[in-house]
Amino acid sequence: MSFQEELKQQQPILYQILIKSFTNHKIPHAFLLVGKNSGPAAHYIAKSLICEQDILACNECNNCRRIDEHNYGDFIYVNGNDETIKKGKVEYIQEQFAKSSMEGSAKIYMLENIENSTPEAMNSLLKVLEEPIDGVYAIFTCQNLSRVLPTIQSRCQVIQLLPNSKLMLKEQLTKNDIPIDDVNILTELFDTYDECQPYIESEMFDSLKLEVFHFIEDLYFHRDNLIINVETHLMKDFKDKEKVQLFLNMLVLGLRDLFHVKHSMELTYPSYRSLYEKINEPEDELVRKIDIILNAEYLLSTNANVMLLIDSMMCKI
Ligand SMILES: [Zn+2]
Repeated sequence: MSFQEELKQQQPILYQILIKSFTNHKIPHAFLLVGKNSGPAAHYIAKSLICEQDILACNECNNCRRIDEHNYGDFIYVNGNDETIKKGKVEYIQEQFAKSSMEGSAKIYMLENIENSTPEAMNSLLKVLEEPIDGVYAIFTCQNLSRVLPTIQSRCQVIQLLPNSKLMLKEQLTKNDIPIDDVNILTELFDTYDECQPYIESEMFDSLKLEVFHFIEDLYFHRDNLIINVETHLMKDFKDKEKVQLFLNMLVLGLRDLFHVKHSMELTYPSYRSLYEKINEPEDELVRKIDIILNAEYLLSTNANVMLLIDSMMCKI
């Protein structure tokens, strides 16, 4: 199936907006895609703006390929997940696009995960959007619309992407003989098989699962060991923020299981059932613990210092 066909089926709203605006030559100056894994759709819009072959992107011509490779002259790409988007970056984009076009066609800048911008950068961006230049297009993505300035939202064509059916993902993972705990965790945390791929049969993923077990065991039965164990097993990885984030998300799923086991609901980690059954904690205390972890996970996404954050989380929990 071509990407266009896939888009038509999986993101019908996005597809309709694109085909209509491109056919009528009424293309918005700025798009804001909301949702996980919006990168491919964002690139598809960029390609559609400069495709040599088709109304929307053909995905095959030279221009389309150069967008995919981030190798097109009038294309600037920044991802807020790689580095916080700062004011200087926005000014740089502005300067580049004030110059004459290199390719003689649309000039495009794409900022992924725009919520990871400093307030100063957001304000500069707003100024750019307030004075749109003919032929210059902005494509933004975010996972959390509430973290994007409303004044920026109002100047963009905002398109909410639909999450892929979790059920379909679960089916796909089960079909591939992946252990049930892994299927459950991956389905909770991700939307597409592609996103899950790096964690399938991955040693890192297995060791994080084990860390979740040890964390919960220590938390309730060997409290004194908790901090030292976290330090020895996890701290060495604490430079890798994504991994810490993944661990915290997986830990929340484990603690949530403590509710589920009491209410005879399905567990994310069925193989930890016997551990869960030994734990008896009032529900409001459990909620408090989950809140602390979710809060740490949130702060982590705002580029806080990992070490300090985990230390403070361990003190509160
Ligand atoms: Zn093309």
